[in-house]
Amino acid sequence: MMILHRKKQIPDPRGRAFCEIDLRALEHNLHIFQSALPERCRLMPAVKANGYGHGMIPLSRALASLGVDAFCVASLAEGVALRRAGIKGEILILGYTHPTDFPRLSKYRLLQTVVDEDYAEALNAFPKRLSVHLALDTGMRRLGIDAADTDALVRVMTLPGLRVEGIFTHLCTDDTDSVTDVAFTGEQARRFFDAIDALKAKQIPIPKLHLQASYGVLNYPQYAGDYARVGIALYGVKSNRGDLDRSGADLCPVLRFAARVATVKTLEPGEGLGYGLAFVADRPMRVAVVAAGYADGVPRALSGGVGRVLIGGEYAPILGRICMDQLTVDVTHLSHVRAGDLVTLLGKDGQNEIPVYEWAEACGTLTNEILSRLGERPERIMKQ
Ligand SMILES: *Cc1c(COP(=O)(O)O)cnc(C)c1O
Repeated sequence: MMILHRKKQIPDPRGRAFCEIDLRALEHNLHIFQSALPERCRLMPAVKANGYGHGMIPLSRALASLGVDAFCVASLAEGVALRRAGIKGEILILGYTHPTDFPRLSKYRLLQTVVDEDYAEALNAFPKRLSVHLALDTGMRRLGIDAADTDALVRVMTLPGLRVEGIFTHLCTDDTDSVTDVAFTGEQARRFFDAIDALKAKQIPIPKLHLQASYGVLNYPQYAGDYARVGIALYGVKSNRGDLDRSGADLCPVLRFAARVATVKTLEPGEGLGYGLAFVADRPMRVAVVAAGYADGVPRALSGGVGRVLIGGEYAPILGRICMDQLTVDVTHLSHVRAGDLVTLLGKDGQNEIPVYEWAEACGTLTNEILSRLGERPERIMKQ
């Protein structure tokens, strides 16, 4: 009997542009954090913004298989997507959720951050009892109830319609060792623990507490609480190359961004290239057209020789203007380059590397922004 095989018509995930997620590097970074923290402190990785560009769902599944059972996201939609992907355990929404979406908080068992007292009352008015973590504003002046406003804290903690499972704050100057920044971090911690003491003095039961994000763990191990909300450093990089890391952790970048050479062209002296013909050859040249552009997350600011790529372990500068779907590089010195070759945009290739710092510095921003703005289009591939 003849068996008809229907071939799966899925595209090769490495066929155009893709991000390779190194799960061993992730595990390595996870262990660094786990060993820097006391036993009672659980990691609650920040997987918001598509896991800082690493692919929220496959990354969270990988973390779950490594024993992580608490996650934080920025939005309700991210929390729902995690639940639908089968992620169990705690999921804390660090940001705002509109009251029209409160039914989804209980349906998907998501923990909502209380962003101020009015918001606590809105949550309290919802017919089902919602589980929340209270944000305390200890000086960042972003989300949270003023840590010094004990009366407001007591009112919120005693609202009958809320199940307050945690209280947290966010440190905003924990990434430098400047005297004022160090003093301010100490001040934030003092305000946080003073608020907790004030609640204890009113016989209010104290839920789980957490203060640290990445830099809190790296630089202020003394503030370890019940959770550590690690983000950027878990992905193996700091926000800026020069940021303070007192722990001296040997972090390993998790993401490699690569794309294929679409075609190779030659340019005659005097010929222009790309939009605006912004690059003009002054000699015979070979140019590789690479299948990734700014819609894939390559910042257009890397145009015109600012950025570079790796092909076969060797650097090739970006020429002309980066397009939405393509960019062009000079391969005059790399005669072996052919259509279909792999191009490393971020990460290691052989002995050489393009660290995400290089893009961040060229764009005047943080690695956080570069990574979280990586496009949806490159497939995320989990590499064992
Ligand atoms: C994004 C975020 C984090 C994670 O921060 P990293 O600096 O990336 O570790 C932690 N806490 C809050 C409140 C956040 O918004």
